[in-house]
Amino acid sequence: MLEQKKAYKTPVEDLGEFALIEQLTKSVIATLPSTLHGIGDDAAVLKHEGELVVSTDMLIEGVHFDLGYMPLKHLGYKAVVVNLSDIYAMGAQATQVLVSIAVSNRFTLEAMEEIYAGIHLACKTYGVDLVGGDTTSSKQGIQLSVTALGIAPKSGPIMRSGAKEKDLLVVTGDLGAAYMGLQVLARENEVFKVNPNHKADLDPYTYLVERQLKPEARKDIIALFQALEVTPTSMIDISDGLSSEVLHLCKQSEVGCRLYEEKIPLDPQFIAVCEEFNVDSTTLALSGGEDYELLFTIKQADFQKIKANPNMTVIGHITDKSDSVNLITRGDELIPIKAQGWKAF
Ligand code: ADP
Ligand code: MG
Repeated sequence: MLEQKKAYKTPVEDLGEFALIEQLTKSVIATLPSTLHGIGDDAAVLKHEGELVVSTDMLIEGVHFDLGYMPLKHLGYKAVVVNLSDIYAMGAQATQVLVSIAVSNRFTLEAMEEIYAGIHLACKTYGVDLVGGDTTSSKQGIQLSVTALGIAPKSGPIMRSGAKEKDLLVVTGDLGAAYMGLQVLARENEVFKVNPNHKADLDPYTYLVERQLKPEARKDIIALFQALEVTPTSMIDISDGLSSEVLHLCKQSEVGCRLYEEKIPLDPQFIAVCEEFNVDSTTLALSGGEDYELLFTIKQADFQKIKANPNMTVIGHITDKSDSVNLITRGDELIPIKAQGWKAF
């Protein structure tokens, strides 16, 4: 977990927009040669060679996060990380981010500094430059929008549409933990509302809670592709749950697939908590979301290169479009996969 500091006293309305921006961005130093001019002018100036990939995401209080259990520093960190995940899902190297933020007047400078501490930490961790953004007020709550830029590999960006029949379907990390982390936090939050003296014991849930509050993007996997000399034929990041992402990938590639229940990588802590909550682990691994792992396909000939890697698990293979998208259960039943991903609407 990231450490927190607590004395929130200066309302943002006492500072005004320019002083606030100054305060939040004064420590920012551009580190990449591709950042010619960062924060401070009407626009940033960048110089990139090759194909640029760009992605943006919004986080709305009450829709995407709840400040009841999302510490501000984690919010800033996560806002950057989820955007970087989209850049890595193109096989690209993330380079710069822009952060736009709207907050109500009830917010304090110290609270904003917490969010920015998380943003700066994420930028440092992933080696990206914060090169601009916008700051404005909202009638209610916080809205955060992050735009991330990156450079595609020389061989081109890895699209969702490149999967071919007989390719292997591979996933990184393990699935479902972030969702169960949220369930644990929501349960503790309910108990706390009834009994404010309640001291949460999150020890048995540290991995799950960390996956929810401090997700990481798989920058390491992009480096691993290079080291292993593997170029995925298609790729997508798993933000909305395995089932919706595999459906996106198959739809855009115009293929079907078979995904084997017994192959889905699950953490032992996730399995234990599913038992405690009396929920089906496969269902949650398929539909949970927020794992920010990568789902990709490779040529069968590349299997030897990845098979010994603990970060990657082959979970199925691509079939003809007429086969549609199916889960093969442990009991050897074939079940069509339907999207159950988290919906904003
Ligand atoms: P403008 O009036 O041209 O929009 P601003 O005063 O909003 O300019 O921004 C001044 C500089 O500060 C710009 O470089 C802008 O990108 C940067 N900036 C503004 N808000 C943020 C923010 N929340 N995070 C990072 N940079 C910001
Ligand atoms: Mg502005």
